[in-house]
Amino acid sequence: MIENGKKVPQVTVKRLSRYLRVLEHFSEQGYETISSEELANELHVKPSQLRKDLAYFGEFGTRGMGYSVSKLAEVLRKILGLHRQWAIAIIGVGNLGTALLRYKGLNEKGFRVAALFDDDPEKVGSARSGIHIYHVDNLANVVKEKNIQIVILTVPAPAARAAAEAVIKAGIKSILNFAPVSIKTGPEITCLQVDIASELKILSHYLAGQDVSGGKDGKVAIPG
Ligand code: NAD
Repeated sequence: MIENGKKVPQVTVKRLSRYLRVLEHFSEQGYETISSEELANELHVKPSQLRKDLAYFGEFGTRGMGYSVSKLAEVLRKILGLHRQWAIAIIGVGNLGTALLRYKGLNEKGFRVAALFDDDPEKVGSARSGIHIYHVDNLANVVKEKNIQIVILTVPAPAARAAAEAVIKAGIKSILNFAPVSIKTGPEITCLQVDIASELKILSHYLAGQDVSGGKDGKVAIPG
């Protein structure tokens, strides 16, 4: 993401969605304004980090008054492209693909599953949660027809690279890959990898560190 000529780091973009989540929570609690300290404390980041993150996009908030919760949430939604709905597709309608499809949070956050793809003849032609399952060979046509912008890959690892290539060939620029395979893309494609096992390994690392060092108060510092 480039903003005002400056490249916005991916960690900043990640924090923006966390700021938004907190703002939505405060809004539900009836808050109208929030200070940078309050917002930053909720996410265990420094207020200076929060201000630096927001500074990529302009000046927000009033000195001594803090931020307007609704206005800052709206700005963040715009920056994150959440003021509109995105049509997404899931390739690989197995255990994980079906679980993601059934996750109501996708729709609520503006991500509408418009098509499903698989290569299993028993699944192709049927529907899940009212969404048609197309053969993956029809990807390019359906992507165009349904204006699909984001693809979630939930195929087995050996099929993931070829599926990603087909996705990119179909003109998709945003991929969320759940298969445990790294996918090489050009700079114009954003491919994010989700791997619960890697996250668990990080937790395991910190737990193991705790065992070895036996910290005085038993606390382990988790990086932000
Ligand atoms: P699954 O076997 O239940 O489902 C895979 C689906 O992909 C099946 O419907 C199959 O027919 C389809 N498929 C296979 N080859 C295909 C191809 N070339 N084109 C289109 N569809 C194809 O598997 P699952 O348990 O749902 O797991 C799916 C993927 O997600 C695996 O790669 C798995 O390792 C990964 N996974 C990742 C995480 C994570 O944290 N990232 C967690 C669980 C599973």
